Amino acid sequence: MLQVAQLIENYRKDIEAYEAANAQEAEAFRIKYLGSKGIVKAMMGEMKNVENDQKRYFGVVLNEFKKLAEEKYESLKNGLSNVSETSTANMDWSLPGDTLPVGTRHPLSIVRNRIVSIFKQLAFAVAEGPEIEDDWHNFTSLNLPEFHPARDMQDTFYVHKNPDWLLRTHTSSVQARVLEKGKLPVRIICPGRVYRNETISARAHCFFHQVEGLYVDEQVSFADLKQTLYFFVQEMFGKDVTIRFRPSYFPFTEPSAEMDISCTVCGGSGCSLCKHTGWVEILGCGMVHPSMLENFKIDPNKYSGFAFGMGIERICQLKYRINDLRLYSQNDIRFLRQFTSAL
Ligand SMILES: [Zn+2]
Repeated sequence: MLQVAQLIENYRKDIEAYEAANAQEAEAFRIKYLGSKGIVKAMMGEMKNVENDQKRYFGVVLNEFKKLAEEKYESLKNGLSNVSETSTANMDWSLPGDTLPVGTRHPLSIVRNRIVSIFKQLAFAVAEGPEIEDDWHNFTSLNLPEFHPARDMQDTFYVHKNPDWLLRTHTSSVQARVLEKGKLPVRIICPGRVYRNETISARAHCFFHQVEGLYVDEQVSFADLKQTLYFFVQEMFGKDVTIRFRPSYFPFTEPSAEMDISCTVCGGSGCSLCKHTGWVEILGCGMVHPSMLENFKIDPNKYSGFAFGMGIERICQLKYRINDLRLYSQNDIRFLRQFTSAL
């Protein structure tokens, strides 16, 4: 009994003097004293050799010894965690840092931001509007009255009937909202998401993105329209790009045109992208129809304007050669990561 008491006293001194410089040394302490084959357990095993009248006293000594070992282990662990937070003495500053994964801007956002910044240089302000529209702003005020055949080109998602509310089919509805405020001149671009009831394929989707532009002031001419769009494509695709206009029809412009640019892949000599014509279509445009100005109580004899509209997906396709519209909304990281360094 005396022998065991002496042994415990020695271990007590050892425990009190023990220091751990790292987690391994603290763990070594735990195994030595508190492990399943540790000293505390071995001392407990000595209980059976103790005479009966000493058992009570020895039990108290053993419990205190166990408590001491446990408390020491806790303080070793706590001491280590404090050290690791505050001490930089052992830090290797030459190691490469842990990089934070940085997200990627979506290609459509990259192109939209680029378009906005180009038109900002020409003092076009960004205008936005609701994605759920009423019939007047989406159709009727834009010379698309009910039963107008051009409505059929935009098979539409209605969310309410009588009064008719629908997911906007173009961002022209934003132009209508700006014009009805009656503040002239107007020089805006309207980027946004639009919806049409299309079968989803590589070339069509039930939602896509447009940027439309509108400039209404005194003496705005077709020459202004041409020069504005020429400036845009040169900024977007480079100085070598040329443009051409083809007559077209839109209910809200007269005259109307489709604008093509020289093919950015073959430079005009003919390839599969331009279907061997040397030209690719990028937007529709025209002079604002006088009756549309009248819809918004603007005098067409005093004011004139031009408007244009393009699909952001289309510009993105030409810029980054993306040949499937579905890629934009599949959230495939392998696709999105390719734009990490795109500007
Ligand atoms: Zn080509």
